Amino acid sequence: MSIATNTGATERPGDFLDDLSVQDSPDALKFVFSGGKLVLRGQALPKSGELKTRPLTPLGTYQGKSVLVGVLEGEVPEGFTLSNVRATYGVLPDDLFGLAGLAHQIVEFHRTHRCCGACASELQKGDPQGGRGRYRKCPNCGLSVYPRVAPAVIVLISRGEGPDTEFLLARGPRQAPGVYTTLAGFVEPSETLENAVQREILEEVGVQVGNIRYQFSQPWPFPHSLMLAFTARYDSGEITPQPGEIEDAQWFPALKLPSIPPPFTSSRRLIDEALGTLSLTTR
Ligand SMILES: [Zn+2]
Repeated sequence: MSIATNTGATERPGDFLDDLSVQDSPDALKFVFSGGKLVLRGQALPKSGELKTRPLTPLGTYQGKSVLVGVLEGEVPEGFTLSNVRATYGVLPDDLFGLAGLAHQIVEFHRTHRCCGACASELQKGDPQGGRGRYRKCPNCGLSVYPRVAPAVIVLISRGEGPDTEFLLARGPRQAPGVYTTLAGFVEPSETLENAVQREILEEVGVQVGNIRYQFSQPWPFPHSLMLAFTARYDSGEITPQPGEIEDAQWFPALKLPSIPPPFTSSRRLIDEALGTLSLTTR
């Protein structure tokens, strides 16, 4: 039996409200990071007062509770562990996993924007009451910087019809052993999303595609992407893996797929939805 795909797990929950003025309180949800990793007690967030942090950054409210993010002061105390945010999928409940992604992006934004890129002065936190959201500003030259979101396209390429359908899947050097996935890459300056789809596929596997169709989007806070998911149909060319980027790429029969990424990924959802359209039962 297949597990339901759940790309929504990386989103902020629907009833989360941005509010940059919330205060710490005993029942607040606090995401505390150390060295870019989330501090957990067992499988839960630390409780109020359990950890000493640098000043907290407000994120908003969720189910009537304040949500804040902060950086741990000092060493990780006994009884607590550090975890990559991505590895907390299935450990934290989905709503908290989504908020952890937001918290991680905001804490990383502040950590990596200490100085002005134009004049090298120290940046300050922007005024949360100013109506401009989260940003940092330069007191010297006035430059404002905002948390970035990097658009990336992810594409399921297919050929053939019905039960003879095949998917072009590939694996890179960083993929888990044996796992094949859809192709993906960042959008470059001046590109449309369709340009990016065609360029990435040509670069990575050397084939031409057409009939590019947008399917859905997924926040991917590892560290700050927005995945834009497409399907495309094979047009021409022989598979030629890009050295250094692609270890192997193959056409796989839709009825006989290799190991594919886990259920909270865009790649998995693209494949599952395509299989659903074909009314095939494969796993
Ligand atoms: Zn400046």
